[in-house]
Amino acid sequence: MEKKTCIAMVPSPGLSHLIPLVEFAKQLVQQHHNIYVTFLIPTLDSPSSSMLSILNNLPSNINFTILPQINIQDLPQNAHFATKMSLTVKHSLPFLHEALKSLSSSTNLAALVFGMFSADALDVAKQFNLLSYVFYATGAIFLSFIVSLPNIDDGVFTDLTNTVNIPGYVVPYKVKDLPDPIPNERSSKSIVGTSKLLSLVDGVIVNSFTDLEGDAIRALEEKRLNGKSAPCVYPIGPIIQSKSTNNENQFECIEWLNKQPPKSVLYVSFGSGGTLSQDQLNELAFGLELSNKKFLWVLRAPSNSSSSAYLTRQKENPLDYLPLGFLERTKAQGLVVPSWAPQIQVLSHGSIAAFLSHCGWNSTLESVVHGVPVIAWPLFAEQRMNAVTLTQVLKVAIRVKVDDESGIVKRDEIAKVIKRIMEGNEGLEISKRIKNLSYAASATLSQNGSSYNVLSDLALKWQNI
Ligand code: UDP
Repeated sequence: MEKKTCIAMVPSPGLSHLIPLVEFAKQLVQQHHNIYVTFLIPTLDSPSSSMLSILNNLPSNINFTILPQINIQDLPQNAHFATKMSLTVKHSLPFLHEALKSLSSSTNLAALVFGMFSADALDVAKQFNLLSYVFYATGAIFLSFIVSLPNIDDGVFTDLTNTVNIPGYVVPYKVKDLPDPIPNERSSKSIVGTSKLLSLVDGVIVNSFTDLEGDAIRALEEKRLNGKSAPCVYPIGPIIQSKSTNNENQFECIEWLNKQPPKSVLYVSFGSGGTLSQDQLNELAFGLELSNKKFLWVLRAPSNSSSSAYLTRQKENPLDYLPLGFLERTKAQGLVVPSWAPQIQVLSHGSIAAFLSHCGWNSTLESVVHGVPVIAWPLFAEQRMNAVTLTQVLKVAIRVKVDDESGIVKRDEIAKVIKRIMEGNEGLEISKRIKNLSYAASATLSQNGSSYNVLSDLALKWQNI
């Protein structure tokens, strides 16, 4: 019997990097029965229940090993979270080496697919003569920016009012909308390291598709065809969670949604770890109340660093931080869920009208696939770029305005934006546009759709090794 092909996958730390890579693996093995996948997972914190639930529900042709946990005390305390992610992988390299040694001796190991912050895994892939691919869990416009980074003059980043040209974005891009930490810390090893890495791998798998980011995808392809140093890009998206993880809140919030009228509820969530300051949290609470619209809010305890809960779990009860009397006053208007909700079940629920989102790339794709209009409230990483794509390119979102003086989004602005998206013509137009994108998303993934074919080409290549 023909020996099956094994693909090893090393996700970047963090749930939002694991989720799309797992879904990618599921599609791969579902369409190509001669392939199986082994996940080798670097971790900083102990695995969360959401992570374990994902891993414990994998199909039989995907297995996993959680590499020994890296001690957070061994990483620089004040490092940017992207640097911590890269360092977690770097410190895990000896374990990764051991795991690959054992895999390569016992299986037909063809390729290593690793997350965008797992650049150091490339050296290990080379040691075992494996094909190497980066999985980009972000949009193609971000990838295009990273590819063009070495050609952008450093000085540009010193002034947030400057603009840069990013291939695939038709007008000059505002520096203030570029990802953290570029404008302040250009030399950040994690980002520039990624940029160099792209010319060394066999391909970049990007979770996007042409109806969503046609200009950026074409710009990347043209660059490569013109002989410039650019990676071979495989747009296989939109790959999103098929089903959220089990959690006690799932039942409560879905039951609550079941009782709400169709298209009446605003879903509010800032991703797997986004946090607001206490002042901003208060303002959001008052804004929701003022809007008079129904809401389902996934609440996290406040922090002055918006990414503070991204890699490590919070221990506080977020409900303790709400304004006095808020829960009582809004008990007929909304539901607050601490820390986590089954987002896919929520977004696909008929009572959901709109999504107030931090615009993480997974949440962006999930809104598109489920055709839910977005209020864009980006916080960190490349979320501002995703907000630009949603508002200015696709016109399926309205972005909140941050008050210049206080740096926060005020309650009146919040209530105003909620009404704009949930009432009247502007909201209806947005809704129509995102529904059309949702049809395009489904078409590209169906048999002989563009993303389906790209995945098949990749699988064929791996099977022929
Ligand atoms: N997510 C979820 N429930 C939550 C918060 C997040 O299921 O309460 C999932 C969400 O569906 C998405 C991922 O976690 O798949 C968050 O990824 P995203 O890229 O949107 O944001 P990040 O966590 O990277 O900031």
